[in-house]
Parts: sequence; C-alpha cells; structure tokens
Amino acid sequence: GPLAPVLLQARGVSKHFGGVYALQDVSFDVREGEILGVIGPNGSGKSTFINICSGIVRADAGRVRLGSEDIARLPAWDIHARGVARIFQNVRLWESMTVLENVMLAWRGTGGDAEAERAARQALDGMGIGFLARRRAADLSFGQSRLVELARATVNKPKLLLLDEPAAGLRGGLVMELAGILQRLREQGTTVLVVEHRIKLVMAMCDRVVVLNLGEKIAEGRPDEIQKDARVVEAYLGE
Ligand code: ADP
Ligand code: MG
Repeated sequence: GPLAPVLLQARGVSKHFGGVYALQDVSFDVREGEILGVIGPNGSGKSTFINICSGIVRADAGRVRLGSEDIARLPAWDIHARGVARIFQNVRLWESMTVLENVMLAWRGTGGDAEAERAARQALDGMGIGFLARRRAADLSFGQSRLVELARATVNKPKLLLLDEPAAGLRGGLVMELAGILQRLREQGTTVLVVEHRIKLVMAMCDRVVVLNLGEKIAEGRPDEIQKDARVVEAYLGE
C-alpha cells in the first residue's frame, strides 16, 4: 500500500564528544505506525541519536523534525509534551513508591487522581502487569521493573516511543513478550523507534531497520534486506 506519513525526519544529524564523532551526518525517516529498529555495534551512536531526539543531548548540526517542527534543540520537557516518550538503558523507578504510584506520577492528563489511576492501570494492563499495581517498586524483579518503565513511558499514549535497548538483561521469555508488546502499542497508535545491538532480536521485532556504524548510517531497509547487506555483516564481524 501507500507509505504512511513521516512522523520523525532526521537530516544531517551530527554530534561529537571531544574528538569522537558519535554521529556523522545521519539522515532517515520514521513513518507513522512503524516499528523502526536502529541497530549497530557498541559505540555506533545509537543512544546518542535517542538522546538527541529526547532533548538529553544537543546535536551539533542537522535537524530532527517531528511533524513540521525541528525538535533537535528543544528541552526534554518540551519534546515530551509534544508526544515523544522514552525509556533509558538503565531502569529508573521511584523505589519506595508502589508500581501504581510510579505510573500515576508520569501521567500528564487533566483531571484528578481517579483519572490518573485509570490511565495508570490501563498502561499496566497493556504490559500484562496489572497484578503488580500495589507492589513496591523496590521489590520487583529486573524484568518487572522494565515493564513498569514501559507502562510509565506509555501512560500518556505517546505519538512516538523511543526505546534504548529495552530487552537488555531480560530473560528469553520476556524478550519475546516484548516483541508482542511493541506490536500492541503500534496497534494503539504509537510509533516505535527501538535501539538494539543484537541483530537477531531487531529482525524479529521491526518492520524496518537503520544500521549505524561508528556514527554513520551504513544501511537502511527491511530486516531481510539488512541481514544480507555486506556492510552490515562486516560491521558485526568483530562482535
Ligand atoms: P551506542 O549507544 O551505539 O553504544 P553511544 O551513542 O552511546 O553508542 O556512543 C557513541 C560514541 O560516543 C561512543 O564512542 C561513546 O563513547 C561516545 N559518547 C557518547 N556519549 C558520550 C558523552 N556523554 N561523553 C563522551 N563521549 C560520549
Ligand atoms: Mg547505547
């Protein structure tokens, strides 16, 4: 069918830290409703790209359009208010609070606690962890914490969800569950950009893949195309 409209458009994005080029002139589109994987070996600039899109790091050059606006140099809160949510590589929860409170705190809607609770419970149910609502965050397993983080990131029904290695540290069963969760989020209208360094996992989860190596985009395409790409195979040989 016809291509979906572009939701996020990165053009010529560059960032260096001292002498290290984390990103060099990177351009690609994220289309509405897709699950786009960004892969690459460690140090290839994947987290830096997500950090720029979420306002944690400022690009040296280039632009990142969300709809018609360049968000590349907006503060994090402003980008978040425009419907871009993220989770970090390391889990960050309020340990002394309950799971439900953690998710309710992230809710930005208008209305009172009842509405916040309804939204939070819906987000927890979406991750299959409604039964954990009253548990203290400190008492969760690593995998459960990751799912709570995902519930928190999606409680406001973001347009775009940025995930930095969401499967890192998860046991096998939960990794496959994650693939299902991303599909469900997409069905509910959230576009997903997921960073991952394990090539196989991305192939199972994503509609399309962008490959970074040493800060540069070296390939872009469907998973089956990417897997056969000589530059991609070469970039991963050292892994
Ligand atoms: P990836 O997520 O693909 O592993 P990163 O985006 O974290 O890669 O890093 C890309 C490169 O930029 C690496 O060489 C890394 O050491 C460097 N880098 C990233 N963030 C910083 C920072 N805050 N300060 C200095 N160097 C950084
Ligand atoms: Mg990273």
